[in-house]
Amino acid sequence: AVDVGDIVLDCVRDRQDLATAKGLSLVTKSPDGPIMATAEAEGLSTILSNLVDNAINYTPSGGRVEIEWSQPGEEVVISVTDTGVGIPLEHQPRVFERFYRVDRARSRELGGTGLGLSIVKHLVHAFRGRIELESQQGRGSRFTIWLPAGESETRSLPRS
Ligand code: ATP
Ligand code: MG
Repeated sequence: AVDVGDIVLDCVRDRQDLATAKGLSLVTKSPDGPIMATAEAEGLSTILSNLVDNAINYTPSGGRVEIEWSQPGEEVVISVTDTGVGIPLEHQPRVFERFYRVDRARSRELGGTGLGLSIVKHLVHAFRGRIELESQQGRGSRFTIWLPAGESETRSLPRS
């Protein structure tokens, strides 16, 4: 099991300067204490990096990117919300396909390959989780992931 907060905060720290340079606020929201998910750290890190990179890339200056996580029940919920360009409804089912990009011209300027979300979906499913997208063109997007909760490792050493 991994502590979701550890992975999210690493991901955010690595991108804080980029977000600030783009005029975006990159913020996190979570309850106190560890939120454990049944996943493997590197895979969860890849999932979050892709979602946060997309949120930063597809949100114009002045916008906001928020990463929120909690454990309301048997599952851990993680969401990445942005106030960016959004994804038109007709494209939403297809953005998880390999190489699919909504706006070819803009995508070419931004670089990248169109593989990010297909990798994210594979990893989420490998962890027995699921992912959903809500978005409105011109208003923003929210990607939400559910992962099975994990047990926290028992500490064999006393805290110092
Ligand atoms: P790569 O991730 O491989 O560098 P990419 O970002 O274009 O390239 P995906 O991450 O798979 O590829 O995303 C697919 C497409 O979905 C993007 O090209 C973009 O059109 C759209 N998209 C993804 N995330 C967002 C977002 N947060 N806001 C608006 N559009 C998005
Ligand atoms: Mg991407």
